[in-house]
Amino acid sequence: MWLVITLVAVGGYLVLPSQTLDGWLITGYKTLIGCLAGVALVAGVLKRRPRATLAWLLFGFGITANALGALVSDVYTKVFGGVGYPNIADAFWLMLYPFLFFGVVVLIRARGSARDWASMVDAMTVATGLGLLSWVFLMVPVRSDETLHPIGQVIVMAYPVGDIMVLAMLLHLMFSGGVRNPSFWLVCTAMGLFLLGDFSWAALSQLDITPSDIPTRLLDMIFLGAYACFAFAACHPSVVALGQPSEIAPPRLTPIQLAMLTAATMISPSILAIQVAHHDVTNGVAIVVGSVALFLLVVTRMAQLVRQVERQAQQLRALARSDALTGLPNRRALFDELPQAMARAARNGTPFAVAMIDLDHFKRFNDEHGHQAGDRLLKGAASAWAAALRTVDVLARYGGEEFVLLLPAADATLAGTALTRLRAATPEGQTFSAGLAIWNGAESEDELIGRADRALYMAKAGGRDRTEHADPVSLS
Ligand code: GH3
Ligand code: MG
Ligand code: MG
Repeated sequence: MWLVITLVAVGGYLVLPSQTLDGWLITGYKTLIGCLAGVALVAGVLKRRPRATLAWLLFGFGITANALGALVSDVYTKVFGGVGYPNIADAFWLMLYPFLFFGVVVLIRARGSARDWASMVDAMTVATGLGLLSWVFLMVPVRSDETLHPIGQVIVMAYPVGDIMVLAMLLHLMFSGGVRNPSFWLVCTAMGLFLLGDFSWAALSQLDITPSDIPTRLLDMIFLGAYACFAFAACHPSVVALGQPSEIAPPRLTPIQLAMLTAATMISPSILAIQVAHHDVTNGVAIVVGSVALFLLVVTRMAQLVRQVERQAQQLRALARSDALTGLPNRRALFDELPQAMARAARNGTPFAVAMIDLDHFKRFNDEHGHQAGDRLLKGAASAWAAALRTVDVLARYGGEEFVLLLPAADATLAGTALTRLRAATPEGQTFSAGLAIWNGAESEDELIGRADRALYMAKAGGRDRTEHADPVSLS
């Protein structure tokens, strides 16, 4: 119903008689639609009570003020006989930009994507490129316009500045994470329509075209459409989810995004190339400033990406070295650590003990209590044992229900006591068998582990729930 009413209302604008009431009908109609959209927006927000209500109120004020601009302009010129531009009406039209800008800032903060630096840098990159473009083509001509008062120049230049700011926020909103529901797309469409309308006017004035009645109204309808989209966005049920903080990650660098970034960075060299080709480099300083800003943004983005890769590499390394179930160092980490521990023992002249530990009748435990209970036992044993060890000791999961314990600076007696402590700490009344080998200072890692393993076999054969010492190997 809303959609039909809006389509009829916006479409009706095209067929209004232009001369009726000396043109006041057109102006009044346009203003009324904008104000109604503002009222509908506020009503929708009061009804649905979304988070970040402030954002919506800012949008509402922005579009209402913008819509009132046409009326103020007509009152100024037709009632008070005011001439010239810019005038008081510009204050109303221009209010749109800061209100939209801060509205989106509030919305993005509520969505929890304010810290999404990558999307902010991307948005700033595109905005900087287009900012340079609009400086060269829109703002510099205004600055050299002798017929305009300096304050007038500032006011006229405020439009492209406002557009760039709104564009930056639109891109930030679109590049960052968070839900993408109908309300989200309506807000984006509304902002896009405002930008399209402004761009159309700027293009026409660049080409020195003054549109006649119907084309002017078609252009006006772009803005009416923008008002309507904002009202829709606030009235749609999905507005509630729009302002929710969310864990939805920002989309990865899409081809479109990449193309936009590439195009944005090409703007300043392109302007320079064209001006060089015409032997008329008039915007040298602006091109330098724009290029420097773009390079800094690109370097910032690169730094972000490299940091991200480094962080992920670190996480992957940690993951690759730890056992998923128990969190203990895994086999890979064990065989990294073992030669280093042996080298340290050799350097310090301290003994070094290795124990191979295997839970007794673990298959039976699994069969009786289920595999999940078996997993819990493995986890429980791992953490209980780790808590009973010194910080220099390394307990690693070797595989299945087998563990390897490295005991630096431990002789047979000390290692035997350590294993007794582990035996007492084993949960659920379970037992383990262990084989203990003291490094002879010369054998390889495999030989050392092999001796401990054979001792473990002996412990199993001897009736389990015990520690067997491996035969010492003489240094012959
Ligand atoms: P023994 O006293 O001779 O060591 O007997 P055991 O049953 O402990 O030894 P066996 O090698 O026959 O069985 C080991 C069992 O450990 C078989 C396997 O299903 C189980 N197992 C291995 N890894 C896991 C695991 O990650 N979770 C669970 N729940 N069970 C596992
Ligand atoms: Mg076992
Ligand atoms: Mg086993």
